Amino acid sequence: MTYRVSNFINGQPQESRSERQGAIFNPACGKQQGSVGLSSAAECQEAIAIAERAFADWSQTPPLVRARIFFRFKELMEQHRDELAQLISREHGKVFSDAQGELTRGLEVVEFACGIPHLLKGEHSLNVGRGVDSYSMMQPVGVCAGITPFNFPAMVPLWMFPVAIACGNTFILKPSEKDPSLSLRMAELLKEAGLPDGVLNVVNGDKEVVDVLLTDPRVGAVSFVGSTPIAQYIYATASAHGKRVQALGGAKNHMVVMPDADLDQAVSALMGAAYGAAGERCMAISVAVVVGDETADALVAKLTPLVEKLRVGPGLGQSPENEMGPLISKEHLAKVRGYVDQGVTEGAVLRVDGRTLSHDEGYFIGGCLFDEVTPEMRIYREEIFGPVLSIVRVPDYETALRLINEHEYGNGTAIFTCDGDTARDFTARVQVGMVGVNVPIPVPMAFHSFGGWKRSIFGPLNMHGPDGVRFYTRMKTVTARWPQSLRSGAEFSMPTMK
Ligand code: NAD
Repeated sequence: MTYRVSNFINGQPQESRSERQGAIFNPACGKQQGSVGLSSAAECQEAIAIAERAFADWSQTPPLVRARIFFRFKELMEQHRDELAQLISREHGKVFSDAQGELTRGLEVVEFACGIPHLLKGEHSLNVGRGVDSYSMMQPVGVCAGITPFNFPAMVPLWMFPVAIACGNTFILKPSEKDPSLSLRMAELLKEAGLPDGVLNVVNGDKEVVDVLLTDPRVGAVSFVGSTPIAQYIYATASAHGKRVQALGGAKNHMVVMPDADLDQAVSALMGAAYGAAGERCMAISVAVVVGDETADALVAKLTPLVEKLRVGPGLGQSPENEMGPLISKEHLAKVRGYVDQGVTEGAVLRVDGRTLSHDEGYFIGGCLFDEVTPEMRIYREEIFGPVLSIVRVPDYETALRLINEHEYGNGTAIFTCDGDTARDFTARVQVGMVGVNVPIPVPMAFHSFGGWKRSIFGPLNMHGPDGVRFYTRMKTVTARWPQSLRSGAEFSMPTMK
Protein backbone atom coordinates (compact mmCIF):
# COMPACT_ATOMS: atom_id res chain seq x y z
CA MET A 1 0.00 0.00 0.00
CA THR A 2 1.55 3.27 -1.04
CA TYR A 3 0.76 6.60 0.56
CA ARG A 4 0.47 10.09 -0.78
CA VAL A 5 2.01 13.19 0.78
CA SER A 6 -0.07 16.32 0.46
CA ASN A 7 0.69 19.99 0.92
CA PHE A 8 -0.25 21.82 4.12
CA ILE A 9 -1.96 25.09 3.32
CA ASN A 10 -3.85 27.43 5.60
CA GLY A 11 -3.86 24.92 8.45
CA GLN A 12 -5.11 21.96 6.38
CA PRO A 13 -3.56 19.08 4.47
CA GLN A 14 -4.36 19.79 0.83
CA GLU A 15 -3.78 17.55 -2.15
CA SER A 16 -1.81 19.21 -4.90
CA ARG A 17 -3.88 19.72 -8.04
CA SER A 18 -0.82 19.12 -10.17
CA GLU A 19 -0.62 16.03 -12.29
CA ARG A 20 3.13 15.87 -11.84
CA GLN A 21 4.20 13.36 -9.18
CA GLY A 22 7.41 12.63 -7.35
CA ALA A 23 8.00 9.02 -6.31
CA ILE A 24 9.08 8.35 -2.71
CA PHE A 25 11.26 5.25 -2.44
CA ASN A 26 12.18 3.13 0.53
CA PRO A 27 15.99 3.20 0.20
CA ALA A 28 16.32 0.03 2.29
CA CYS A 29 14.46 -2.08 -0.30
CA GLY A 30 14.43 0.09 -3.39
CA LYS A 31 10.65 -0.07 -3.78
CA GLN A 32 8.35 2.89 -4.23
CA GLN A 33 6.44 3.44 -0.99
CA GLY A 34 4.65 6.69 -1.68
CA SER A 35 4.28 9.71 -3.91
CA VAL A 36 4.15 13.45 -3.57
CA GLY A 37 2.39 15.93 -5.82
CA LEU A 38 4.82 18.37 -7.41
CA SER A 39 2.83 21.57 -7.03
CA SER A 40 2.37 24.12 -9.76
CA ALA A 41 3.51 27.73 -9.74
CA ALA A 42 -0.12 28.80 -9.26
CA GLU A 43 -0.48 26.64 -6.12
CA CYS A 44 2.67 28.18 -4.69
CA GLN A 45 1.35 31.69 -5.42
CA GLU A 46 -1.87 30.83 -3.61
CA ALA A 47 0.11 29.68 -0.58
CA ILE A 48 2.09 32.94 -0.60
CA ALA A 49 -1.17 34.92 -0.64
CA ILE A 50 -2.40 32.94 2.39
CA ALA A 51 0.88 33.48 4.23
CA GLU A 52 0.73 37.18 3.43
CA ARG A 53 -2.78 37.45 4.89
CA ALA A 54 -1.75 35.53 8.03
CA PHE A 55 1.19 37.87 8.53
CA ALA A 56 -1.03 40.83 9.42
CA ASP A 57 -2.19 39.26 12.66
CA TRP A 58 0.74 36.98 13.46
CA SER A 59 3.30 39.80 13.29
CA GLN A 60 1.23 41.66 15.92
CA THR A 61 0.91 38.65 18.23
CA PRO A 62 3.05 39.22 21.35
CA PRO A 63 6.36 37.33 21.24
CA LEU A 64 5.51 35.61 24.53
CA VAL A 65 2.34 34.15 23.00
CA ARG A 66 4.34 33.01 19.98
CA ALA A 67 6.94 31.43 22.27
CA ARG A 68 4.32 29.49 24.24
CA ILE A 69 3.16 27.80 21.03
CA PHE A 70 6.72 26.59 20.48
CA PHE A 71 6.88 25.25 24.06
CA ARG A 72 3.80 23.15 23.25
CA PHE A 73 5.23 22.15 19.87
CA LYS A 74 8.38 20.90 21.58
CA GLU A 75 6.27 18.80 23.96
CA LEU A 76 4.27 17.31 21.08
CA MET A 77 7.39 16.52 19.08
CA GLU A 78 8.79 14.72 22.15
CA GLN A 79 5.55 12.75 22.56
CA HIS A 80 5.73 11.66 18.92
CA ARG A 81 9.51 11.20 18.88
CA ASP A 82 9.56 7.49 17.97
CA GLU A 83 6.97 7.87 15.25
CA LEU A 84 8.89 10.81 13.76
CA ALA A 85 12.24 9.01 13.93
CA GLN A 86 10.70 6.01 12.19
CA LEU A 87 9.37 8.26 9.48
CA ILE A 88 12.86 9.70 8.96
CA SER A 89 14.40 6.22 8.75
CA ARG A 90 11.72 4.97 6.40
CA GLU A 91 12.11 7.75 3.85
CA HIS A 92 15.75 8.76 4.27
CA GLY A 93 17.20 5.37 5.24
CA LYS A 94 19.39 6.44 8.17
CA VAL A 95 19.42 4.19 11.22
CA PHE A 96 16.82 4.81 13.92
CA SER A 97 19.22 6.09 16.63
CA ASP A 98 20.70 8.55 14.12
CA ALA A 99 17.19 9.74 13.24
CA GLN A 100 16.60 10.30 16.97
CA GLY A 101 19.83 12.31 17.10
CA GLU A 102 18.66 14.44 14.19
CA LEU A 103 15.42 15.16 16.02
CA THR A 104 17.27 16.15 19.17
CA ARG A 105 19.44 18.62 17.29
CA GLY A 106 16.40 20.08 15.53
CA LEU A 107 14.42 20.39 18.74
CA GLU A 108 17.25 22.38 20.28
CA VAL A 109 16.43 25.09 17.75
CA VAL A 110 12.81 24.98 18.93
CA GLU A 111 14.07 25.48 22.51
CA PHE A 112 16.10 28.43 21.25
CA ALA A 113 12.99 29.89 19.56
CA CYS A 114 11.13 29.61 22.89
CA GLY A 115 13.42 32.38 24.15
CA ILE A 116 12.21 34.79 21.47
CA PRO A 117 10.87 37.51 23.84
CA HIS A 118 14.39 37.91 25.17
CA LEU A 119 16.01 37.65 21.74
CA LEU A 120 13.83 40.43 20.27
CA LYS A 121 14.48 42.97 23.02
CA GLY A 122 16.76 45.06 20.85
CA GLU A 123 18.87 47.91 22.16
CA HIS A 124 17.94 51.04 24.06
CA SER A 125 20.08 54.07 24.84
CA LEU A 126 18.79 56.80 27.10
CA ASN A 127 19.91 60.38 26.59
CA VAL A 128 21.87 59.91 23.38
CA GLY A 129 21.54 63.69 23.38
CA ARG A 130 19.86 65.86 25.98
CA GLY A 131 16.25 64.68 26.20
CA VAL A 132 16.75 62.29 23.27
CA ASP A 133 16.45 58.50 23.50
CA SER A 134 17.35 55.93 20.86
CA TYR A 135 16.18 52.37 20.54
CA SER A 136 16.08 49.57 18.01
CA MET A 137 13.11 47.46 17.00
CA MET A 138 13.56 44.04 15.43
CA GLN A 139 10.57 43.65 13.16
CA PRO A 140 9.64 40.59 11.11
CA VAL A 141 10.43 40.55 7.40
CA GLY A 142 7.05 39.21 6.18
CA VAL A 143 6.59 36.00 4.22
CA CYS A 144 9.76 33.88 4.40
CA ALA A 145 10.58 30.74 2.44
CA GLY A 146 12.72 27.70 3.24
CA ILE A 147 13.99 25.16 0.69
CA THR A 148 15.55 22.10 2.28
CA PRO A 149 17.66 19.06 1.30
CA PHE A 150 16.94 15.34 1.67
CA ASN A 151 19.65 14.51 4.19
CA PHE A 152 18.08 16.04 7.30
CA PRO A 153 14.31 16.01 6.68
CA ALA A 154 13.59 17.18 10.23
CA MET A 155 16.64 19.07 11.43
CA VAL A 156 17.17 21.44 8.52
CA PRO A 157 13.53 22.63 8.35
CA LEU A 158 13.79 23.05 12.13
CA TRP A 159 16.84 25.31 11.63
CA MET A 160 14.52 27.64 9.76
CA PHE A 161 10.80 27.83 10.52
CA PRO A 162 10.85 27.95 14.37
CA VAL A 163 13.13 31.02 14.38
CA ALA A 164 11.37 32.69 11.46
CA ILE A 165 7.88 32.16 12.90
CA ALA A 166 8.86 33.06 16.46
CA CYS A 167 10.22 36.35 15.06
CA GLY A 168 6.70 37.09 13.73
CA ASN A 169 7.07 36.00 10.11
CA THR A 170 4.90 33.59 8.19
CA PHE A 171 6.59 30.75 6.32
CA ILE A 172 6.44 28.60 3.19
CA LEU A 173 8.46 25.40 3.50
CA LYS A 174 9.47 23.52 0.36
CA PRO A 175 11.01 20.25 1.56
CA SER A 176 13.02 17.78 -0.46
CA GLU A 177 10.70 15.78 -2.70
CA LYS A 178 12.65 12.62 -1.74
CA ASP A 179 11.52 12.59 1.92
CA PRO A 180 8.75 15.17 2.41
CA SER A 181 6.60 13.43 5.07
CA LEU A 182 8.39 14.90 8.07
CA SER A 183 7.63 18.47 7.04
CA LEU A 184 3.94 17.72 6.72
CA ARG A 185 3.86 15.96 10.10
CA MET A 186 5.66 18.87 11.80
CA ALA A 187 3.18 21.34 10.30
CA GLU A 188 0.30 19.25 11.71
CA LEU A 189 1.88 19.18 15.17
CA LEU A 190 2.56 22.91 15.12
CA LYS A 191 -1.10 23.51 14.32
CA GLU A 192 -2.04 21.21 17.22
CA ALA A 193 0.27 23.31 19.42
CA GLY A 194 -1.84 26.35 18.59
CA LEU A 195 -0.25 27.97 15.55
CA PRO A 196 -2.86 29.98 13.64
CA ASP A 197 -3.74 28.80 10.15
CA GLY A 198 -1.65 30.15 7.31
CA VAL A 199 1.45 30.92 9.41
CA LEU A 200 3.31 27.76 8.33
CA ASN A 201 2.53 26.31 4.92
CA VAL A 202 4.21 23.35 3.27
CA VAL A 203 4.31 23.39 -0.53
CA ASN A 204 5.82 20.29 -2.07
CA GLY A 205 7.42 20.48 -5.46
CA ASP A 206 10.56 21.04 -7.46
CA LYS A 207 12.15 23.85 -9.46
CA GLU A 208 8.75 25.20 -10.56
CA VAL A 209 7.76 25.97 -6.96
CA VAL A 210 11.25 27.11 -5.97
CA ASP A 211 11.37 29.64 -8.81
CA VAL A 212 8.15 31.24 -7.57
CA LEU A 213 9.60 31.54 -4.07
CA LEU A 214 12.75 33.17 -5.49
CA THR A 215 10.98 35.74 -7.63
CA ASP A 216 7.56 36.55 -6.12
CA PRO A 217 7.73 40.09 -4.68
CA ARG A 218 5.64 39.07 -1.64
CA VAL A 219 8.43 36.80 -0.34
CA GLY A 220 10.92 38.81 1.72
CA ALA A 221 13.56 36.25 2.70
CA VAL A 222 14.75 32.89 1.38
CA SER A 223 16.69 30.27 3.34
CA PHE A 224 18.22 27.41 1.40
CA VAL A 225 20.27 24.35 2.27
CA GLY A 226 21.45 21.96 -0.44
CA SER A 227 24.18 21.42 -3.00
CA THR A 228 26.50 24.27 -4.01
CA PRO A 229 25.38 24.74 -7.65
CA ILE A 230 21.75 25.10 -6.54
CA ALA A 231 22.75 27.32 -3.58
CA GLN A 232 24.52 29.63 -5.99
CA TYR A 233 21.49 29.75 -8.25
CA ILE A 234 19.18 30.42 -5.30
CA TYR A 235 21.41 33.21 -4.01
CA ALA A 236 21.81 34.90 -7.39
CA THR A 237 18.13 34.70 -8.35
CA ALA A 238 16.56 35.67 -5.02
CA SER A 239 19.09 38.49 -4.44
CA ALA A 240 18.37 39.84 -7.91
CA HIS A 241 14.72 39.99 -6.87
CA GLY A 242 15.52 42.08 -3.80
CA LYS A 243 15.26 39.37 -1.14
CA ARG A 244 17.55 38.64 1.72
CA VAL A 245 19.08 35.21 1.19
CA GLN A 246 21.04 32.66 3.16
CA ALA A 247 22.06 29.73 0.96
CA LEU A 248 24.14 26.95 2.45
CA GLY A 249 25.89 24.60 0.06
CA GLY A 250 28.08 21.53 -0.13
CA ALA A 251 31.23 20.54 1.69
CA LYS A 252 34.47 18.59 1.75
CA ASN A 253 35.46 18.44 5.38
CA HIS A 254 39.05 17.67 6.37
CA MET A 255 40.24 16.28 9.66
CA VAL A 256 43.91 16.79 10.48
CA VAL A 257 45.56 14.05 12.51
CA MET A 258 48.79 15.26 14.10
CA PRO A 259 51.56 12.82 15.15
CA ASP A 260 50.84 13.63 18.82
CA ALA A 261 47.10 12.87 18.52
CA ASP A 262 45.49 10.18 20.64
CA LEU A 263 45.21 7.75 17.74
CA ASP A 264 42.45 5.59 19.20
CA GLN A 265 40.35 8.68 19.80
CA ALA A 266 41.06 9.91 16.25
CA VAL A 267 40.13 6.53 14.75
CA SER A 268 36.83 6.25 16.56
CA ALA A 269 36.04 9.89 15.68
CA LEU A 270 36.76 9.16 12.02
CA MET A 271 34.54 6.08 11.99
CA GLY A 272 31.50 8.02 13.20
CA ALA A 273 32.23 11.19 11.23
CA ALA A 274 33.01 9.53 7.91
CA TYR A 275 30.54 6.63 7.88
CA GLY A 276 27.65 7.80 10.11
CA ALA A 277 24.49 8.42 8.05
CA ALA A 278 26.41 6.72 5.19
CA GLY A 279 28.42 9.91 4.76
CA GLU A 280 25.31 11.85 3.72
CA ARG A 281 25.98 14.72 6.12
CA CYS A 282 27.23 18.15 5.15
CA MET A 283 29.51 17.97 8.21
CA ALA A 284 30.77 14.44 7.49
CA ILE A 285 34.54 14.08 7.44
CA SER A 286 35.51 12.90 3.98
CA VAL A 287 39.26 13.61 4.10
CA ALA A 288 41.73 12.66 6.83
CA VAL A 289 44.90 14.69 6.45
CA VAL A 290 47.54 12.74 8.30
CA VAL A 291 50.84 14.37 9.22
CA GLY A 292 53.79 11.99 8.76
CA ASP A 293 53.93 8.53 7.16
CA GLU A 294 54.39 6.81 10.48
CA THR A 295 51.16 8.26 11.85
CA ALA A 296 49.38 7.48 8.58
CA ASP A 297 50.52 3.84 8.60
CA ALA A 298 49.37 3.42 12.20
CA LEU A 299 46.03 5.10 11.49
CA VAL A 300 45.35 2.99 8.39
CA ALA A 301 46.22 -0.18 10.32
CA LYS A 302 43.66 0.62 13.00
CA LEU A 303 41.02 1.99 10.64
CA THR A 304 40.99 -0.74 7.96
CA PRO A 305 39.53 -3.62 10.01
CA LEU A 306 36.90 -1.33 11.51
CA VAL A 307 35.72 -0.14 8.10
CA GLU A 308 35.64 -3.75 6.87
CA LYS A 309 33.48 -4.73 9.82
CA LEU A 310 30.92 -1.91 9.52
CA ARG A 311 27.40 -3.28 9.97
CA VAL A 312 25.55 -2.05 6.89
CA GLY A 313 21.84 -2.66 6.38
CA PRO A 314 18.33 -1.30 6.91
CA GLY A 315 17.92 1.54 9.38
CA LEU A 316 14.88 0.00 11.04
CA GLY A 317 13.97 -3.30 12.66
CA GLN A 318 17.45 -4.79 13.14
CA SER A 319 18.98 -5.96 16.40
CA PRO A 320 21.68 -5.01 17.06
CA GLU A 321 21.07 -1.86 15.10
CA ASN A 322 23.11 -1.40 11.92
CA GLU A 323 25.80 1.26 11.94
CA MET A 324 25.13 2.47 8.43
CA GLY A 325 21.98 2.51 6.32
CA PRO A 326 21.49 2.80 2.56
CA LEU A 327 22.03 5.82 0.33
CA ILE A 328 19.02 7.90 -0.64
CA SER A 329 18.45 6.74 -4.22
CA LYS A 330 19.54 4.47 -7.03
CA GLU A 331 21.00 7.45 -8.89
CA HIS A 332 22.99 8.57 -5.87
CA LEU A 333 24.31 5.03 -5.32
CA ALA A 334 25.49 4.96 -8.94
CA LYS A 335 27.17 8.34 -8.46
CA VAL A 336 29.03 7.25 -5.30
CA ARG A 337 30.13 3.96 -6.92
CA GLY A 338 31.30 6.01 -9.91
CA TYR A 339 33.52 8.09 -7.64
CA VAL A 340 35.05 4.94 -6.16
CA ASP A 341 35.76 3.63 -9.68
CA GLN A 342 37.27 7.00 -10.53
CA GLY A 343 39.52 6.98 -7.44
CA VAL A 344 40.93 3.60 -8.45
CA THR A 345 41.53 4.84 -12.01
CA GLU A 346 43.26 7.95 -10.68
CA GLY A 347 45.71 5.78 -8.72
CA ALA A 348 44.51 6.10 -5.12
CA VAL A 349 44.97 2.96 -3.03
CA LEU A 350 41.60 1.43 -2.17
CA ARG A 351 42.19 -0.22 1.21
CA VAL A 352 38.53 -1.15 1.77
CA ASP A 353 36.21 -1.63 -1.20
CA GLY A 354 32.59 -1.14 -0.14
CA ARG A 355 31.41 -1.92 -3.68
CA THR A 356 31.76 -5.62 -2.89
CA LEU A 357 28.94 -5.48 -0.35
CA SER A 358 26.08 -7.57 -1.66
CA HIS A 359 22.51 -6.76 -0.83
CA ASP A 360 19.68 -8.12 -2.95
CA GLU A 361 17.69 -4.95 -2.68
CA GLY A 362 18.09 -1.36 -1.53
CA TYR A 363 20.70 1.30 -2.24
CA PHE A 364 23.58 -0.08 -0.19
CA ILE A 365 27.29 0.36 -0.45
CA GLY A 366 29.81 -0.61 2.19
CA GLY A 367 32.33 1.76 3.75
CA CYS A 368 35.18 2.65 1.39
CA LEU A 369 38.66 3.69 2.50
CA PHE A 370 41.15 5.28 0.12
CA ASP A 371 44.79 5.83 1.02
CA GLU A 372 47.44 7.94 -0.73
CA VAL A 373 44.90 10.32 -2.20
CA THR A 374 46.41 13.45 -3.77
CA PRO A 375 44.88 16.93 -4.19
CA GLU A 376 44.57 16.67 -7.99
CA MET A 377 42.24 13.68 -7.81
CA ARG A 378 38.52 14.21 -8.35
CA ILE A 379 37.74 12.09 -5.27
CA TYR A 380 39.66 14.73 -3.29
CA ARG A 381 38.27 17.82 -4.97
CA GLU A 382 34.58 16.98 -5.24
CA GLU A 383 31.87 16.28 -2.70
CA ILE A 384 30.98 12.56 -2.90
CA PHE A 385 28.29 12.52 -0.17
CA GLY A 386 28.72 8.84 0.56
CA PRO A 387 30.68 6.54 2.89
CA VAL A 388 34.04 7.18 1.23
CA LEU A 389 36.97 8.38 3.34
CA SER A 390 40.14 9.60 1.66
CA ILE A 391 43.48 9.68 3.44
CA VAL A 392 45.90 12.34 2.28
CA ARG A 393 49.43 12.00 3.64
CA VAL A 394 51.32 15.26 4.25
CA PRO A 395 54.81 15.88 5.64
CA ASP A 396 53.95 18.64 8.12
CA TYR A 397 51.28 20.80 9.76
CA GLU A 398 51.75 23.78 7.41
CA THR A 399 51.04 21.59 4.37
CA ALA A 400 47.89 20.26 6.06
CA LEU A 401 46.68 23.77 6.80
CA ARG A 402 47.43 25.00 3.28
CA LEU A 403 45.54 22.09 1.76
CA ILE A 404 42.40 22.94 3.71
CA ASN A 405 42.69 26.63 3.00
CA GLU A 406 43.07 26.05 -0.74
CA HIS A 407 39.98 23.83 -1.02
CA GLU A 408 36.94 25.49 -2.56
CA TYR A 409 34.68 24.38 0.31
CA GLY A 410 34.95 25.58 3.89
CA ASN A 411 32.06 24.09 5.85
CA GLY A 412 33.62 22.15 8.75
CA THR A 413 37.03 20.91 9.79
CA ALA A 414 38.76 19.36 12.79
CA ILE A 415 42.21 18.86 14.23
CA PHE A 416 43.21 16.00 16.48
CA THR A 417 46.25 16.85 18.59
CA CYS A 418 47.39 16.94 22.21
CA ASP A 419 49.23 20.22 21.66
CA GLY A 420 47.32 23.36 22.67
CA ASP A 421 49.55 25.69 20.67
CA THR A 422 48.98 23.78 17.40
CA ALA A 423 45.23 23.68 18.06
CA ARG A 424 45.19 27.41 18.79
CA ASP A 425 47.09 28.24 15.61
CA PHE A 426 44.74 26.00 13.60
CA THR A 427 41.56 27.62 14.89
CA ALA A 428 42.99 31.07 14.16
CA ARG A 429 44.29 30.47 10.64
CA VAL A 430 42.02 27.87 9.07
CA GLN A 431 39.64 29.24 6.41
CA VAL A 432 36.59 27.23 7.47
CA GLY A 433 33.39 28.26 9.25
CA MET A 434 33.04 25.50 11.87
CA VAL A 435 36.13 24.11 13.56
CA GLY A 436 36.57 21.20 15.96
CA VAL A 437 39.49 20.57 18.30
CA ASN A 438 39.45 16.85 19.08
CA VAL A 439 35.76 17.06 18.08
CA PRO A 440 35.13 15.57 14.63
CA ILE A 441 31.72 17.06 13.77
CA PRO A 442 31.66 20.54 15.28
CA VAL A 443 28.01 21.38 14.58
CA PRO A 444 27.29 24.49 16.69
CA MET A 445 24.53 24.30 19.27
CA ALA A 446 21.25 26.07 18.49
CA PHE A 447 22.17 29.19 20.49
CA HIS A 448 25.22 29.65 18.26
CA SER A 449 24.93 29.94 14.49
CA PHE A 450 25.61 27.30 11.82
CA GLY A 451 27.40 28.09 8.58
CA GLY A 452 30.55 27.54 6.57
CA TRP A 453 32.89 29.74 4.54
CA LYS A 454 33.87 29.96 0.89
CA ARG A 455 31.62 27.98 -1.52
CA SER A 456 29.79 26.33 1.37
CA ILE A 457 27.64 29.43 1.90
CA PHE A 458 26.25 32.34 -0.06
CA GLY A 459 25.02 35.30 1.97
CA PRO A 460 26.36 36.91 5.13
CA LEU A 461 24.15 35.42 7.85
CA ASN A 462 24.23 31.84 9.15
CA MET A 463 21.38 29.59 10.36
CA HIS A 464 19.78 29.78 13.82
CA GLY A 465 21.37 31.36 16.90
CA PRO A 466 21.90 35.14 16.85
CA ASP A 467 22.38 35.19 13.05
CA GLY A 468 19.03 33.43 12.56
CA VAL A 469 17.24 36.14 14.52
CA ARG A 470 19.06 38.85 12.56
CA PHE A 471 18.20 37.15 9.29
CA TYR A 472 14.48 36.92 10.01
CA THR A 473 14.13 40.46 11.39
CA ARG A 474 14.64 43.92 10.05
CA MET A 475 16.25 46.36 12.39
CA LYS A 476 14.62 49.74 12.77
CA THR A 477 16.31 52.37 14.92
CA VAL A 478 14.21 55.11 16.45
CA THR A 479 15.62 58.36 17.74
CA ALA A 480 12.99 60.21 19.80
CA ARG A 481 12.72 63.61 21.37
CA TRP A 482 9.49 64.71 23.02
CA PRO A 483 7.93 68.10 22.27
CA GLN A 484 9.07 70.08 25.29
CA SER A 485 12.66 69.95 24.03
CA LEU A 486 11.50 71.77 20.90
CA ARG A 487 10.78 74.87 22.94
CA SER A 488 14.17 76.18 21.95
CA GLY A 489 13.00 76.28 18.31
CA ALA A 490 13.91 74.61 15.05
CA GLU A 491 17.47 73.60 14.11
CA PHE A 492 18.69 74.15 10.56
CA SER A 493 22.17 72.72 10.81
CA MET A 494 22.87 68.93 10.57
CA PRO A 495 21.64 67.47 13.88
CA THR A 496 24.47 66.30 16.15
CA MET A 497 24.09 64.98 19.68
CA LYS A 498 24.90 67.62 22.29
P1 NAD B 1 19.86 19.58 -3.76
O1 NAD B 1 20.63 20.83 -4.00
O2 NAD B 1 19.72 18.60 -4.87
O3 NAD B 1 18.35 19.92 -3.29
C1 NAD B 1 18.09 20.82 -2.26
C2 NAD B 1 16.72 21.46 -2.50
O4 NAD B 1 16.78 22.22 -3.72
C3 NAD B 1 15.58 20.46 -2.65
O5 NAD B 1 14.46 20.96 -1.96
C4 NAD B 1 15.36 20.41 -4.14
O6 NAD B 1 14.01 20.13 -4.48
C5 NAD B 1 15.73 21.81 -4.59
N1 NAD B 1 16.25 21.83 -5.97
C6 NAD B 1 16.95 20.85 -6.59
N2 NAD B 1 17.27 21.23 -7.84
C7 NAD B 1 16.76 22.46 -8.01
C8 NAD B 1 16.77 23.40 -9.11
N3 NAD B 1 17.38 23.11 -10.26
N4 NAD B 1 16.18 24.58 -8.93
C9 NAD B 1 15.58 24.88 -7.76
N5 NAD B 1 15.53 24.05 -6.70
C10 NAD B 1 16.12 22.85 -6.82
O7 NAD B 1 20.51 18.89 -2.46
P2 NAD B 1 20.19 17.48 -1.83
O8 NAD B 1 20.74 16.42 -2.72
O9 NAD B 1 18.79 17.40 -1.41
O10 NAD B 1 21.08 17.57 -0.50
C11 NAD B 1 22.45 17.24 -0.45
C12 NAD B 1 23.31 18.48 -0.54
O11 NAD B 1 22.97 19.40 0.50
C13 NAD B 1 24.79 18.17 -0.32
O12 NAD B 1 25.53 18.92 -1.26
C14 NAD B 1 25.06 18.66 1.09
O13 NAD B 1 26.40 19.03 1.35
C15 NAD B 1 24.15 19.82 1.17
N6 NAD B 1 23.85 20.17 2.55
C16 NAD B 1 24.46 21.26 3.07
C17 NAD B 1 24.23 21.61 4.38
C18 NAD B 1 24.89 22.81 4.98
O14 NAD B 1 24.52 23.18 6.08
N7 NAD B 1 25.84 23.44 4.32
C19 NAD B 1 23.36 20.85 5.16
C20 NAD B 1 22.74 19.74 4.60
C21 NAD B 1 22.98 19.42 3.27
